Amino acid sequence: MALTDVMPWHLATWHQLTRLADGGRMPHALLIHGAHGVGKQQLAEALIARMLCASPADKACGHCHSCTMLGSGYHPDLLRVSPEEGKRQIRIDPIREVNRFVSQTAQQGGYRVIVISPAEAMNIAAANALLKSLEEPGDKTLFILLSDVPSRMLPTIRSRCQQWSLPSVPFEACRGWLIEQLNSADEAYFWWQVAGGLPLLAVELAAPEERALRHQIHDSFEQLVRGAEPVSEAARLDRQAIDGILWYGIAWLEDLIRLGLSGEAAVLHNPDLEPLYRQAVKNGRVQDWFRLLDYAREQRRLLAVGANPNPQLVLEAWLVRWAALLRS
Ligand SMILES: [Zn+2]
Repeated sequence: MALTDVMPWHLATWHQLTRLADGGRMPHALLIHGAHGVGKQQLAEALIARMLCASPADKACGHCHSCTMLGSGYHPDLLRVSPEEGKRQIRIDPIREVNRFVSQTAQQGGYRVIVISPAEAMNIAAANALLKSLEEPGDKTLFILLSDVPSRMLPTIRSRCQQWSLPSVPFEACRGWLIEQLNSADEAYFWWQVAGGLPLLAVELAAPEERALRHQIHDSFEQLVRGAEPVSEAARLDRQAIDGILWYGIAWLEDLIRLGLSGEAAVLHNPDLEPLYRQAVKNGRVQDWFRLLDYAREQRRLLAVGANPNPQLVLEAWLVRWAALLRS
């Protein structure tokens, strides 16, 4: 997959973006948002390359001086901002660097592009420092902000960007691509369902290590139904994988709620878990699952912002609640 490739399900969005650029109507700031695994980064990379390219056609040309520099990993008119290694937040210093970058002229005489990812990682000081540059960006400057969860961004930042929402993808739109990645139509469909229509996430979840994690969580849940101790089941799970464990737990709760409300197995994202769900549906009440869902989402949010330093305790509390629901 080349950096300039556009995912087949994003072609319509891509053509809208290139029409804006070619018509001289490209806004100075785009906020591209959508769930992890929909392909935001790929769309942004294709756009960065095309904006910097000296002779773009449908895509960046791939061989001008600018494309060659970009391909080698460094371009003087591109600035990328992300949290430092091992950190969650984007602090004010890199944003001061953005403001300096924007005040200079482009070295190649074309566009300057600033990519901030994930945009919700900017702390308040960083976001406030960015506002001025977003308001007076100067000529031929494009900010690309990427976000999984735009609701966690400052509203003043969001409102200064043109928003591009990338929704989950119907199977037909990503079928060919997924079959190419997973070498099987059945696998493609299964993992597309599990990933809730997010094609890149489907490929991530189908990788051997992630498959093993899913299998292990499923096994723990089966054990809980049979009366195993939630705290010892929590000890068997890898606390490093807490985000993935909560993600699966949330997806399975959503399945349970769908099944509980409709009674239809056809609505499930994880059809292989139907026996487990049937057990839970027999025992629990929909309002209890909604309560557990709220709890899990909040725990996942706290972990994402670094507000909960003890994943082991979260894991235990989470399985204790699940056990109560599965056996009640
Ligand atoms: Zn080029």
